[in-house]
Amino acid sequence: MTETVKSLEELCVERGMRMTEQRRIIAQILEGSDDHPDVEELHRRSVKVDARISISTVYRTVKLFEDAGIIERHDFRDGRSRYETVPEAHHDHLIDLKTGVVIEFHSPEIEALQERIAREYGFRLVDHRLELYGVPLKKEDK
Ligand SMILES: [Zn+2]
Repeated sequence: MTETVKSLEELCVERGMRMTEQRRIIAQILEGSDDHPDVEELHRRSVKVDARISISTVYRTVKLFEDAGIIERHDFRDGRSRYETVPEAHHDHLIDLKTGVVIEFHSPEIEALQERIAREYGFRLVDHRLELYGVPLKKEDK
């Protein structure tokens, strides 16, 4: 789920990136994705818009966007890097190990707890990553 005030394209332009037609398409696809696609999935979606976009172009483009800090890369332990636009509102991820489905959540308690822990160790928290990995509860566990 992503709510960016500025479009990826605007952010790219602000950072002095040259926006080719193919980069623009990849940016729009990233923006329109509310899951966490990997490069192959982004490529599948991109060629539907422009069949000439190669997987290496997608690779290079997401690397460029990632280095510019306008998208986030996640590693959800399935050996693939997945991407999402930097979200307006912070969220963490819960990964279903059976299906690979990624659920986004936000917990004020966890956020506060992390701040407290950092403070106890003499730090001001500037960032964190939290990934929960689970399998769906069976009926009898519920
Ligand atoms: Zn996410």
